[in-house]
Amino acid sequence: MQHLNVPPDNHVKVLDGQGWVGLIDHLGSEISILNAARVSFGKLKDQMDDKDITLLEYLIGNRHTSPLEHVVFTFSIHCPLFIRGQWHRHRTWSYNEISRRYTEIDLEFYTPPKLRAQAKINRQASVEQEDFEDAALRRKISDHNAFSLNLFNELLDAGVCREQARGVLPQNMMVTFWGTVNLNNLLHFLDLRDSEHAQWEIREYAKAIKQLIKPLIPNVAKYFEGKGQAW
Ligand SMILES: Cc1cc2nc3c(=O)[nH]c(=O)nc-3n(C[C@H](O)[C@H](O)[C@H](O)COP(=O)(O)OP(=O)(O)OC[C@H]3O[C@@H](n4cnc5c(N)ncnc54)[C@H](O)[C@@H]3O)c2cc1C
Repeated sequence: MQHLNVPPDNHVKVLDGQGWVGLIDHLGSEISILNAARVSFGKLKDQMDDKDITLLEYLIGNRHTSPLEHVVFTFSIHCPLFIRGQWHRHRTWSYNEISRRYTEIDLEFYTPPKLRAQAKINRQASVEQEDFEDAALRRKISDHNAFSLNLFNELLDAGVCREQARGVLPQNMMVTFWGTVNLNNLLHFLDLRDSEHAQWEIREYAKAIKQLIKPLIPNVAKYFEGKGQAW
């Protein structure tokens, strides 16, 4: 049996190699989108031509979104807890996650590869700062992660239950979950999360997802590239 904390074959590493997102499974293709749109005419095709690409662009451009819902992806995501919190706000995904009520093995913690400074104009945002002396601070974050893990293990050794002991684990704890989403809701996620308004960490995941799905939906990706978006 394969362990869930191991990335699937088709995955992209993010966060300086500390996190990853992998494509577990998918259903449908660009042909499925076009055939779903043509169900109303009772006609199906198995090859795309130039007219189909125009139809695909029309559907996306005019927010005729239901045909996009016939393409579905399942991802495995390994990310810090604070990114999982942002991700799970997207209610149109279906999620399942490793539970720390069941297992205490494979605990890992994120140490940011580079610290960013607080933005002055936006209380939510951060900014790059070249002269930021972050080596000592990053070491303190690693020490704090290790201290939390030691305390967690001490509580377990003393007989405390996992469901309470896990409360001492920091937001930097890495979690692994599965997320399944249809293409329409995924495009909405990518729009919000591969954006300059989104936190750098979740943006890394959104970019990685684009890399994973681009070979499966090349003309959809081309449409957004044509609108000036990076894919
Ligand atoms: C840059 C950024 C900053 C953010 N900051 C904050 C913050 O400070 N505080 C905070 O709480 N959240 C914050 N969020 C989260 C944000 O408010 C949304 O919860 C999150 O982006 C999910 O978006 P969504 O609801 O559109 O997605 P989904 O939940 O995937 O929903 C997709 C679409 O389905 C429809 N839908 C889904 N569920 C419902 C429903 N119950 N009722 C009606 N329509 C529904 C809506 O049209 C929705 O747009 C932030 C998000 C971003 C991208």
